[in-house]
Amino acid sequence: MKDIKCDVVIIGAGLTGLTLAYYLTKKGKKVALIERNDKVGGVINTGNVDGFVYEKGPTTGVLGSEELVQLFEDLQSDCKLELTNPEAKERWILKGNKWEALPSGLFSAIQTPLFSLKDKFRILGEPFRKKGNNPNETLSDMVIRRMGKSFLDYAVDPFISGIYAGDATKLVTRFAMPKLYYLEQDYGSFIKGAIKKKKEPKTELQKKVTREVFSVEGGLGNLIKALEKNIPEDSVFCGADNAGVEVKPHGFITTFSDQSNGEETKISSGKVVTTFGGTALADILPFVSFDQMDKVSNTSYAKVVKVAVGYKKWEGNPVKAFGGLVPTIENQAVLGVLFSGSLFRDRCPREGALLSVFVGGVKRPDMIDKTDDELKNIVVEAIRKTLKETKEPDFFEINRYQNAIPQYDILSEARLQAIDSIEEAYPGLFIAGNIKDGIGMADRVKQAVQLVNKL
Ligand SMILES: Cc1cc2nc3c(=O)[nH]c(=O)nc-3n(C[C@H](O)[C@H](O)[C@H](O)COP(=O)(O)OP(=O)(O)OC[C@H]3O[C@@H](n4cnc5c(N)ncnc54)[C@H](O)[C@@H]3O)c2cc1C
Repeated sequence: MKDIKCDVVIIGAGLTGLTLAYYLTKKGKKVALIERNDKVGGVINTGNVDGFVYEKGPTTGVLGSEELVQLFEDLQSDCKLELTNPEAKERWILKGNKWEALPSGLFSAIQTPLFSLKDKFRILGEPFRKKGNNPNETLSDMVIRRMGKSFLDYAVDPFISGIYAGDATKLVTRFAMPKLYYLEQDYGSFIKGAIKKKKEPKTELQKKVTREVFSVEGGLGNLIKALEKNIPEDSVFCGADNAGVEVKPHGFITTFSDQSNGEETKISSGKVVTTFGGTALADILPFVSFDQMDKVSNTSYAKVVKVAVGYKKWEGNPVKAFGGLVPTIENQAVLGVLFSGSLFRDRCPREGALLSVFVGGVKRPDMIDKTDDELKNIVVEAIRKTLKETKEPDFFEINRYQNAIPQYDILSEARLQAIDSIEEAYPGLFIAGNIKDGIGMADRVKQAVQLVNKL
């Protein structure tokens, strides 16, 4: 049995755990980062096959927090931020098997067939509509109330599929889109709020939070490599089975066994941070009461199938765009597609195309149980029908995620309260990860940095 002492044990080496370990190490703390998989990165994982550099999990992030901007500055000698190709800006929405560009200005908004004439007029009254008073209002109710049903169907619903693979009738705005919720609460209107916020003075770092979409040169996996490189090798324990935490008078003891040889390791630390949710949490923290833990581990997740599709020579409709999202009302199996080969450099052969297709989500949980052949038929048929590429792809890879994205629904309030009371009952224990504070990469880095300051 190995016996180790450190300041902070971090369980889970996805983006949250790695960022936390990186900054704690920088501050001179001794950490132990414990990971069940045989490599770090969590759902972020870049593959490279036959000239296609593709993402198995998340494909893009948004420069949406100061902490993420700072992380890229801190890691600049080890990985390079890559913003999307400006020529591939257009975002598409499927309507009747045809992609329509999402309006980007007033003129295109007037002309678009996506929204009804009534709602186009109605939007002019948005700044004057009175603000809502239900803190648990769902996104769909809020959007219908302020903007109209066609905006829900052809803008917000597909956008929610793209981010949460979720259901706008179930997600509670205050938790799922807090910025939108507070625009209405603080300024009385989305439009008024957005204009006023734009005029507020900003620090140099805040000015860099441009909300542009990014990857990393060579794929997001290079961000993971850069973080890993800057964490001492002997602090990272991959292939850790049966991790468990015990509470001791002056801290915690974390144990796990090595998957390769069964050897046990015991780590004493003053602090422990977990970075994942679901039922695994109850096994790791057996001292937490069932009642409290149940409110945390009953989080519902979207099941997502992520498919990478590559063509060495693309002969379909031009895909010089960001990607396309599919509204629920269109009743399709595919949630959306990103044209990764158009967005980032050197991801596919020069005349080819690389598409990242998302299938399933909360509204089609059955899709994850389809066989590989069934999924391939669904995806290739959707590409044939909407993008007019009739050839078989040269490259095709399926990755399934049973617990892809936690849903910030009506159970969120009870979950967050339970996390607070567990942390209060066991000082030094922190329950982090995407079950709170947002699911996007910018949110993950922000949470980790805020935790570093607390720790
Ligand atoms: C398919 C998919 C697409 C996405 N697309 C985007 C996107 O385009 N843009 C965006 O911003 N976000 C996207 N997200 C969300 C974002 O990627 C995640 O919220 C974020 O990467 C999660 O990081 P994390 O470290 O919190 O969790 P994870 O990456 O899930 O890491 C948690 C780690 O904990 C480990 N672990 C779990 N249980 C144990 C245990 N018992 N013992 C030890 N280790 C354990 C896991 O193996 C894992 O490595 C996507 C997510 C998925 C799944």
